[in-house]
Amino acid sequence: MDKYILSIDQGTTSSRAVIFDKNARAVSSAQQEFRQIYPAPGMVEHSPRDIMGSVMAVVAEALVRADISAGELNAIGITNQRETTLVWNRKTGKPVYNAIVWQCRRTAKMCDELKREYSDLIYRKTGLIPDAYFSATKIKWILDNVAGARKSAEAGELLFGTVDTYIMWHISRGAIFATDYTNACRTLLFNIHTLEWDEELLRLFGIPRSMLPEVKPSGSLFGYTDKAVFGERVAVCGVAGDQQSALFGQLCTEPGELKNTYGTGCFLLMNTGGKAIKSDNGLVTTLGATLSGRPPYVLEGSVFVGGAVIQWLRDGVKLISSSGESEELAVRVKDTGGVYVVPAFTGLGAPYWDADARGTITGITRGTTREHIVRASLESIAYRVSDIACAMERDSGIKIARLAVDGGASANDFLMQFQADILNCATVRPDYAETTALGAGYLAGLASGYWESIEKLKASSKGAKVFTPSMDEKVREGLLDGWRRAVVKARA
Ligand code: ADP
Repeated sequence: MDKYILSIDQGTTSSRAVIFDKNARAVSSAQQEFRQIYPAPGMVEHSPRDIMGSVMAVVAEALVRADISAGELNAIGITNQRETTLVWNRKTGKPVYNAIVWQCRRTAKMCDELKREYSDLIYRKTGLIPDAYFSATKIKWILDNVAGARKSAEAGELLFGTVDTYIMWHISRGAIFATDYTNACRTLLFNIHTLEWDEELLRLFGIPRSMLPEVKPSGSLFGYTDKAVFGERVAVCGVAGDQQSALFGQLCTEPGELKNTYGTGCFLLMNTGGKAIKSDNGLVTTLGATLSGRPPYVLEGSVFVGGAVIQWLRDGVKLISSSGESEELAVRVKDTGGVYVVPAFTGLGAPYWDADARGTITGITRGTTREHIVRASLESIAYRVSDIACAMERDSGIKIARLAVDGGASANDFLMQFQADILNCATVRPDYAETTALGAGYLAGLASGYWESIEKLKASSKGAKVFTPSMDEKVREGLLDGWRRAVVKARA
């Protein structure tokens, strides 16, 4: 009987399930969006029931579409929206509060206070900055604000988990209470050097140790689903946070390899192997997926406005009617005619960290057309990615040889070629773009012995499109110089 790998991709706005065959080909998939809850400006929650409901629905649909039963699954991998925080009762399974989503800013003030005194301590231990994104202050908020929660937590009755942990706990009917390194390291509670929950940080945030799951390598046996859930016991063998899963899905398993995901925002992750890099540019240090032993360190930087600048062209200023049209317009002109768009809509992140910067369009003349502005908007995505990639090179001392790309906007050939030209290194777009789901699938399949080795997967993965740099050095330097000057204006 042929066997398959199921990958569950529980994202911020939708849950997906993909079934892969032995050739790592997706034989079926299903996707379901779920409700976003906005209790107040800046606050975002998910209903735990919506999360589990959508996960169960897409798994069932993907199995039906592939015309297989759960008994034909070799193993399950899970990848998830990172940092989103759930607290539930150990006995009843009932959440004490909604899931507090990574985007939720309700603990921003708490983080500002922590920053004053504990930034160094937190960075030294976790590789992160005290920001409301990460889980610790969200757990503390729940314990401080839900009636009786702290008392129950101290009595050992409550459990904390990121979404991966919550899903595993449910599909195993409480038998699995675990997470992996890539999720644990986003909580602000996990020491990325000792690879343990950190007692000092737990005290600082007032979180009882008994709430925390066991932490395991991403590709390892986490346990089995309960037979009552999918009708069969199936091994759960892969778990990774979405960005690290994409890094693994791109098979960036060697030091110096990196990927960028061009979604609403952009996420760059560079594998730095056994070396935890200390960043001088405000990048964070995190952990990557591994099959055994110590996980690799990963340098991570993000761009707040990536593909979102194209959404703005479409929905805000209505210069285009679809994202795809941006490419048609951009290639109609030979350059931007000196126009730069700096999409600092909400300030500029790494390496500038300027919250007061704002979006600007500079260099407009009487001859500037819609095409120029659209092209400059696409180019701005590449410049921002280049800003971060160069910061990574400076921090790590590693010269980037190639950039693996994925995400919605990586479909844009013009953008991928311009990215290669501006970075002066090849950009490589895999044939199968859903690298997040693929990463968790690879992890599950490798850990369960379904696939033999990473090397064999690398050898058999084909069909990638490579964009090689072809820009004259002088032209590149001139463009980059113009970008730097445009950034100065956006910050003025
Ligand atoms: P997310 O997972 O963050 O929702 P996706 O990976 O689905 O994002 O990518 C969607 C983003 O990519 C949107 O911001 C959209 O504007 C942009 N995008 C999609 N297709 C293109 C394209 N052909 N050219 C440029 N941008 C695109």
